[in-house]
Amino acid sequence: MKVRKEVEELDPYVPGRSKEEIAQEFGVKKEDIIKLGSNENPWGPSPKVKEAIEGELANINRYPESDLEELKKEFARYSHVKPEQIIVGGDGADELIDTLAKTFIEPGDEFVVPLPSYMYYEFLFKPYGAIPNYAKWNLETNTLDLDSVLNAINEKTKMLFLCTPNNPTGALISQDELRAILDKTNKSKGGVCDAVVVIDEAYFEYSLTNNVNLLDEYENIFILRTMSKVMGLAGMRIGYGISSKEIIEFMHRIKPVFSLTKLSYIAALTTIKDTEYIEKSIKDGIESRDFLYDEISKMKSVKVYKSYSNFMLIDIHDTGYTAAEITREFMKRGMIVRDCTSFKGLDEYYFRISICTLEEDKKFLEVMREILNE
Ligand SMILES: *Cc1c(COP(=O)(O)O)cnc(C)c1O
Repeated sequence: MKVRKEVEELDPYVPGRSKEEIAQEFGVKKEDIIKLGSNENPWGPSPKVKEAIEGELANINRYPESDLEELKKEFARYSHVKPEQIIVGGDGADELIDTLAKTFIEPGDEFVVPLPSYMYYEFLFKPYGAIPNYAKWNLETNTLDLDSVLNAINEKTKMLFLCTPNNPTGALISQDELRAILDKTNKSKGGVCDAVVVIDEAYFEYSLTNNVNLLDEYENIFILRTMSKVMGLAGMRIGYGISSKEIIEFMHRIKPVFSLTKLSYIAALTTIKDTEYIEKSIKDGIESRDFLYDEISKMKSVKVYKSYSNFMLIDIHDTGYTAAEITREFMKRGMIVRDCTSFKGLDEYYFRISICTLEEDKKFLEVMREILNE
């Protein structure tokens, strides 16, 4: 059977590992595993969600809502925009990346992504015949290499993926940098092309900043958000996007109609209204991140990157381990960390950890000191 060339040539996406896999492979008890691999919320979902889902269970013989009006209103309120500027994804924010490709990409179009960054962009864009044009992050200064992004933009550029805070480096892109990029991708502002600039704010809450204000100045922005991180709903697969009314309208024409299940819908609605839960998740997350950063900074054999997110990247060039080896050492001891070898733009000497509860953080640090003899 002959499949499409784009499918034949696709690099598989390497996700973070699950507790089930590690329990089986290393013979550790699932309940004892500490997961620092996938940037989830370690405190669980909003306590109101369980009851809301239980209340909805009797209705799952019915199709979900398709226009999601109430949920769009809530996302609009939370983001300080209008409901017509919101689109909701039912396989998380990942579904909206796919919808962006379906809406905009013709085979041969280019997209720009500074490396290292989230690998799912190219995983979803390549099947549509889109061609990556890589720019870079400067790992020495932990800042965006703005010139590399500006130089990567040409007449064929259709989309850019700018992740801020960036996964896996944790650094932010400034609004001056974003404006320079937006000007070059906007013919009405003297740019060389008309491209959509995707600003991936999957982790914006942890940075206490966002870029919604730029929507008043530029039409070609798509802000990508998710309920998988601070909102504690990674297993329910809910994402949303914010853009101009026009772009949102085109995307709705092609988006899967029923992809957000009834249970995900009720979980999303309940969580976004639970201001107390969201504020506590952010506050505790930042506290955990700063604690981990301070403690890891004291270790002599590694370099930890300052992060505005709920994870941080660790450089282990001087430890004698590769990321695959050190990840194995952690897993043997019941801790899941993310080997970053599969991230383009990083060599095999980086791993990433995400925040946990303070108690788990302390256990993790103990194990890390043991592995590194610190
Ligand atoms: C987690 C993540 C997403 C999307 O997550 P979903 O679970 O699909 O909503 C998007 N971008 C980045 C950078 C992420 O880390």
